[in-house]
Amino acid sequence: MKDLSFRNHMLMLALVPAILVATLLSVIYVSWNFHEVEVALKERGRAIARQLGTAAEYGIFSGSRDALRSLAEAAQKGDAEILAVTILGERGQVLTRVGDSSYIPLALSESEYNIEKEDRIILVVPISRTVLPVDDIYSAQEPSARGNSVVSCYVVMDVSRQRLVETRNTQMLIGLDIAIGGLLLGVWLALRMARGITRPLSHITDVVERIGRGELGARVDVEAVKTLQSLGNNINAMAERVTLAHGELQQKVAQATDELRRRKEEAELLARMDSLTGIPNRRAFMQSAEQEVLRAQRYGSSLTVAVLDLDHFKSINDTFGHATGDQVLINRANLLTATVREVDVVGRLGGEEFAILMPGTPLPEAIQAIERIRQAFEQSPVSCNEQLVSATASFGVAEYPGADPTVDGLLAKADGALYLAKARGRNRVETPAQKIIDGI
Ligand code: GH3
Ligand code: MG
Ligand code: MG
Repeated sequence: MKDLSFRNHMLMLALVPAILVATLLSVIYVSWNFHEVEVALKERGRAIARQLGTAAEYGIFSGSRDALRSLAEAAQKGDAEILAVTILGERGQVLTRVGDSSYIPLALSESEYNIEKEDRIILVVPISRTVLPVDDIYSAQEPSARGNSVVSCYVVMDVSRQRLVETRNTQMLIGLDIAIGGLLLGVWLALRMARGITRPLSHITDVVERIGRGELGARVDVEAVKTLQSLGNNINAMAERVTLAHGELQQKVAQATDELRRRKEEAELLARMDSLTGIPNRRAFMQSAEQEVLRAQRYGSSLTVAVLDLDHFKSINDTFGHATGDQVLINRANLLTATVREVDVVGRLGGEEFAILMPGTPLPEAIQAIERIRQAFEQSPVSCNEQLVSATASFGVAEYPGADPTVDGLLAKADGALYLAKARGRNRVETPAQKIIDGI
């Protein structure tokens, strides 16, 4: 039973009552019919016995055994189911017997009775007559009301049960047919019922499995699962909600991912950007310089770097305040960015020190460009709080490669030139060759 599929369980569920009902119906049918036939058989036997008894009265009265025998024979021949007819006298002595009967009267009763045997029913029917007093012969009353009723003889009929048995067998066959018919009908109905449940269930199970596998568009075809339509509708509603929740979740994940990416980029940018001036910080500048050094190494192209430091910046801070100093730094960073070429890289190395990377630019060209920047610094004081703050710078320019062909080596060389520019009076451009260029 354990291994039976759901479908078989459904079949059993529908079949067991069907079998029981079919069996019950056929048993009721057979026993009811059998009883009916038996009652009819006995009734007929008794009717024949009474007729015979009445007819036999003269024979008994006259003592004519032949007449009694003829009557008994006529009664037996008249009905194929009468096996034997015995007429007993009032004391139970056998007056005549036709046919095969083993009936031996023991204690006769004045009322009818049956003896049931396997092959026959023996009906014992007492026949009464009324004894009238002689002086009452002319009475207006009915004889039965006036006289005493006494048993004059007994008619014993052996009635065959064969037809009864045959009838019972036929009835049983019919009953069996009914049972088989009922059973087949039950099987057919059970199959239909089982199919009506198992098919929709298997469809629903399939849909639920597909949704479970992530196929969120899967839906129950409610038209195809008529018997379980409400279950199908509920599953569809649930799937709708799951799809919706999944969509919302995906949207939130996408939003969160975007936000994360944006913040990462922002953080990366911030990590590479100087927070005061908005230009690349030392780290970012050094990375760009590394790349440019590699490029110059590979292609043998020119590469020049300039380092600049604002002159007497401390006194700007001291005179105008730190905030003004900041404004000056921002202004100079903007001026630098606006003045250099697009391929050049500007960075704040720290404090009031900046650097300019000029790829593809040989030293003389670079010196000229830097000189223009120096002049721009000189000629454009910074306007702060309605005050003009002069902010010149000293520049050191160096070309790659030098004795040390690294970024640090290149910057150190430029730093050396810057030191020279400071030493030689500031607001100047110097190279490591100690060549002083004083305005072109
Ligand atoms: P020199 O001409 O020799 O370069 O003199 P200097 O005053 O510019 O140089 P010094 O190194 O003595 O002073 C640099 C000053 O720059 C000191 C420091 O407080 C200031 N400074 C560094 N970073 C900032 C900044 O971000 N904002 C402001 N307002 N001041 C800064
Ligand atoms: Mg400095
Ligand atoms: Mg300075």
